[in-house]
Amino acid sequence: MPARKPPSQSKSNCIFCDLVQGSAEVSMCYEDDVALAFMDIQPVNPGHVLVIPRDHYETLQDIPRAVGWHLFQVTTRLIPVIQKIAGAEDMNLIVNSGPAAGQNVFHYHIHLIPRTKGDGFDVPLPFPGSEMPNRHLLDAMAVRIGSALRMDPTRETPASGVRVVNPADRMAATVTVAAPKAKAGAKPKAPPKKR
Ligand code: AMP
Ligand code: ZN
Repeated sequence: MPARKPPSQSKSNCIFCDLVQGSAEVSMCYEDDVALAFMDIQPVNPGHVLVIPRDHYETLQDIPRAVGWHLFQVTTRLIPVIQKIAGAEDMNLIVNSGPAAGQNVFHYHIHLIPRTKGDGFDVPLPFPGSEMPNRHLLDAMAVRIGSALRMDPTRETPASGVRVVNPADRMAATVTVAAPKAKAGAKPKAPPKKR
């Protein structure tokens, strides 16, 4: 069973809800009807911002798609601005969703972390502890995920013009090697003689 959040962090006892309601100190850099962005109190680097929904949703799983999409739009607007103001070279976006993934505040948030070479922070990917699985295992997992997606009752119709490829079809196509076309009028080659 997945680990659950500590019961002390419900909506009624949520530090980010307090920030939204104005009952705790916050340095806000963006605000609209749905989303807020403010300075992380313990920044990795100057300019570390958190983007959150105004309403209390705990994890990625709880976020309605429209809200998630809006938060992502706010995030992508903020990225170049923060990067410039913070004088950073690059940016990490991080979502810790759930206790096993390292979430500490159970009001969904996206970390926008400005990065500069040698700043001492690290997201160690590729994971040095990973034993690279063979292609069959990767393919099997990809097909399982693809099938589950097609069975998903909440799935949306893709936007017009977007073609969804079945991962199983792609894999079948990848292993099919087309035979070279014979030139018109050319005699078929005789098979090599057996010795
Ligand atoms: P996470 O571990 O992904 O849940 O991250 C929670 C983040 O919230 C941490 O980076 C904290 O520094 C930040 N944080 C906690 N309390 C506050 C607060 N009152 N104002 C701003 N940031 C906060
Ligand atoms: Zn909250």
